[in-house]
Formats: sequence, structure tokens, C-alpha cells
Amino acid sequence: MRQKKYLLPESEIPTHYFNIQAIMPNKPLPFLNPATKQPLKPEDLYPIFCKACADQELNQTDEWIPIPEPVREQYAAYRCTPLVRAYELEEALGTPAHIYFKNESVSPAGSHKLNSAIAQAYYAKEQGVTNLTTETGAGQWGGALSYATKKFGIDCAVYMVKVSYEQKPYRRSIMQTFGAAITPSPSMSTRAGKDIITRNPNDQGSLGCAISEAIELAVSTPNCKYALGSVLNHVCLHQSIIGLEAEKQMELAGEYPDIVIACFGGGSNFSGIAYPFMRHNIQDGKKTRFIAAEPYSCPKLTRGKFEYDFGDEAGMTPLLPMYTLGHTFKPASIHAGGLRYHGAGVILSQLMKDGFMEAVDIEQKDSFAAGVLFARTEGIIPAPESCHAIAATIQEALKCKETGEAKTILFNLSGHGFVDMSAYDQYFSGEMQNYHVSDEDLAKFIKSADALNQSAATSFR
Ligand SMILES: *Cc1c(COP(=O)(O)O)cnc(C)c1O
Repeated sequence: MRQKKYLLPESEIPTHYFNIQAIMPNKPLPFLNPATKQPLKPEDLYPIFCKACADQELNQTDEWIPIPEPVREQYAAYRCTPLVRAYELEEALGTPAHIYFKNESVSPAGSHKLNSAIAQAYYAKEQGVTNLTTETGAGQWGGALSYATKKFGIDCAVYMVKVSYEQKPYRRSIMQTFGAAITPSPSMSTRAGKDIITRNPNDQGSLGCAISEAIELAVSTPNCKYALGSVLNHVCLHQSIIGLEAEKQMELAGEYPDIVIACFGGGSNFSGIAYPFMRHNIQDGKKTRFIAAEPYSCPKLTRGKFEYDFGDEAGMTPLLPMYTLGHTFKPASIHAGGLRYHGAGVILSQLMKDGFMEAVDIEQKDSFAAGVLFARTEGIIPAPESCHAIAATIQEALKCKETGEAKTILFNLSGHGFVDMSAYDQYFSGEMQNYHVSDEDLAKFIKSADALNQSAATSFR
């Protein structure tokens, strides 16, 4: 019988995170303080984030960072995750390509996000923090952090965008099951929330507002810190365990990927699967291609601009050097909620600028067509976000069919779609839409970031 799954025992759970910052030919530009325009130091982040995470965020020297034993023990609930050869997808496509996927959907939270949530909850506990706050849009990150904080005996307060709170009751139930306190945002519990409600009592909320509320609670409450589920360097660092495991598993399969693909929201699952392989491009002359699959309606890598911008809509974060659509960009309400973010991680943006990776944009309906084919061939219903990675994989596999090349493609299955079935319903009903953004619209939002960038650039010099 042909071998389909490549499994590693718990003892093979990585002992170190891989920090690509240490080996990048061009290091990322510094984060800037928006008021003084001076480069940020880790201490500047201590009021908001746990100390260990703040230090990791700006660590450009240590290539390997030890994973604490209690974190590895929590990973053992679902790691090592399987690497699977997608034979039936290959056959359905009639491609000579060898397609593998790393299955991160097997985590208790249903996605890769738990890899960082566990680390962040542990570092909080270690530091004597008793409460973590966060925001969640679609609810995946909130679900992951709820579970992780429960494991380490920390209280978790989640601000959930009001419209999602009402429209995605199952994600709310998941967080409740794991024991988090969930507040629809905007709320009357913070000044930021009160201001918005006073202006408009029917405000449906936004991620920007939920972030503001979560940060406000963190900085105004003793022993309370804020946790973020994507974009930031320390989050991408924690996700490197995906690629480190996959590297060993590909070796078991006797192959090495020619192409590595992941969907792209803020960059954490892409970084996680890509960087451990990319280190061999940087250090050992390997020629693997790395492809980030982003939504057509939120094209920060394919059509955005590399410059300093805020990480949040309200403009409360440091200025980050990244590919951005402008922090006021409002993406269409596609079902892949996790991909609706205006910017890209700082490390990844530098790697993109330096030509180490590429990006493609995927139309919403194409993503679901790919997801349905994957479900029918491989037996896992993918998250709408993950459908983008599958669509990009299919595109590459079909190119192999034309050229007759048997390339090895590895993609990350970032999560399952069991709580997103209403999106699939809409796809089958024929009512699903593709969303296009015009160049003029994009230019408008990017212009607002341009102004910021000029003032940042001059004072930084
Ligand atoms: C949040 C999420 C994403 C997007 O976030 P990244 O940080 O870009 O990985 C992708 N897939 C799933 C299942 C998610 O929950």
C-alpha cells in the first residue's frame, strides 16, 4: 500500500523556535514610535505585551530560541501534526505534481493559531500575569487563546466585533466552552468603546475598535497584558514549529519541496511553514519557491506598497515597515475573515521586497471551488482561509500538468471549516460574490499612509 501519512512521535516536537531574523541578509527596518519617530526598544512594548514576547519581537541575533518544556507538553495534545500526501487530489487534477499538506486543523482550536496562543499564555503565567486580553473578528484567535489561557490558569477577556458576536454564535460558544469572558465590541467597559457608542448607539463594531478596547483594558488593569494572534514577529516565530516538523516529515517521504504555499492574512501560518525551508534558500543555495495566497479583495502583497504604516485602524500601534493597503483600508466582507487585514508582517515584508518569496491573489469563488474539491478528495472540509492556499496549490499543480514536470508542492492546511458551513451554503446556493478593488480605490487608502511614511522617513534619517 502506498504511504499517505507521515507522522512523528511526540518526542519529535521541536525543542526550539526558528528565528529567521537572525539570518536575513537585510534585517527588517525598525518599528518607530509614532510620536517621536524613534526606533522602538523592547522596553517600549512591556506595558502592552508580556516581556518574553516583546524581547522575541525585536530579537535579530538568536537563530534558535528554546521552547519551554510546559509549552511542549501542551503541544503534545495535538502535535506533531500529520503531513499528508494528497494522492486523490493529484488524481482528480491529473497532475504529475506530488502534493503534500501539513494538517494544522487537528488542534483543539481547529487551526494553527493555538501554536502561538499556548506560548503566549505560558509566558504570561511565567511573568505573573493573571489576565490576558485580546480581540477577535471571526473568532479563531479568540477560541485559541481561550483554550490556552485555561491550560495555564489565566483569565481571558475577549472583545469580539459585535457583528461577528451576533452572526457567528458557534465561535462565541467555543470561547465560552473554554471559559473566556466575551464582550461584544464596542462596549461600555472602556473609554474607546464608550466614545463610539455615544457617537452611534448602533455601531456594529470593527477589528480596529476591538483592538483599542483590548489594549485599553490591558494597560489600565494590574497584571493584565494584551495578546495578538498574527502579524507580529513573535507570533510568526512560534509558528515556525509547523515548518520544522514538516521538514523532518518531508525527509521521511524522501522528498524536498520545490514550492511551499500558505494562505496569507497577517502572515503567521505562511511564516510558520515557509521560514524553516527558506533558511536553506538563504544558507544552502536551495531554490524552493514560496507563494503566499491572499484574497483578491485584500491584495496587500500583490498590489500594496512597502512603507511605514500603523498596524491598526485607529492608529494606536507603533509604525511598522510593511506592505500595506493603508491602515484605513476596509476590505470587503469575504468569508475568509482571517485574511481581511490591511498589512503584512514586518519580517515577511522585507523578505518579499528582497525577492525571497512571491504572492498570488485568489478570487473568493475560486477559493471555495478549490475547497470543495479538496473536501471531496482528501476528506477534510477546509477553513475559508485555507481554501486560498488550496486554490494556489491547484494552480501550480495544473501548470505541472501542462509542462509535464513532477514538482513537489507543500501547502499548509491552516484550519478546518466546520464552523464556517454557512459560507459553504452560500457558495452552493450560487449567491456568493467575488469582490474587486479598483486601482483608484487602492490609491486613495495608500495615499493616507504615504503622508505618514514621509514624515517617518525624514526623521528616521
Ligand atoms: C487566522 C487564520 C488565518 C490567517 O492568519 P495568518 O496569520 O496569516 O496565518 C489563516 N487560516 C486560518 C484557519 C486562520 O484562523
